[in-house]
Amino acid sequence: MDGNCLHTNCELIPEVPATCTETGLKAHYQCSSCEKVFDEDQNETTLPDLVIGVIDHTFEPYYLNVAWHCQECTVCGEQTEREAHTYVDADDGKKECTKCGYIKTPGEEAMAFAAAVRNMEFAANMGKRFYPSSRSET
Ligand SMILES: [Zn+2]
Ligand SMILES: [Zn+2]
Ligand SMILES: [Zn+2]
Repeated sequence: MDGNCLHTNCELIPEVPATCTETGLKAHYQCSSCEKVFDEDQNETTLPDLVIGVIDHTFEPYYLNVAWHCQECTVCGEQTEREAHTYVDADDGKKECTKCGYIKTPGEEAMAFAAAVRNMEFAANMGKRFYPSSRSET
């Protein structure tokens, strides 16, 4: 019977976009009589051929404490390896990380560390991420 199906009941299945954690599926047609699938050019294909691979994470730089920073994906929350700040000299003897923007003030490291830890706990409790730009929020 399969060989005789004229695939007149093809239904368009919309694309399911891939995310950084799950594969997607290209838009395709499926015959509701024989369940065969066809690509957008109406050529017969198989579901594995329609799979869209996972996409890259959407990383945002942010710092976690005075010693290191890492990046977190804004979509799935996956974190990169922690790495040390890459400091360059900034105004008033401060040092600024070129990657995350963290500013280290001489003598304020202990305070900055305590604040970072507090903010991390706060962020964890609130389910929020901790970005340098949110440092002024209380
Ligand atoms: Zn068919
Ligand atoms: Zn991700
Ligand atoms: Zn940094």
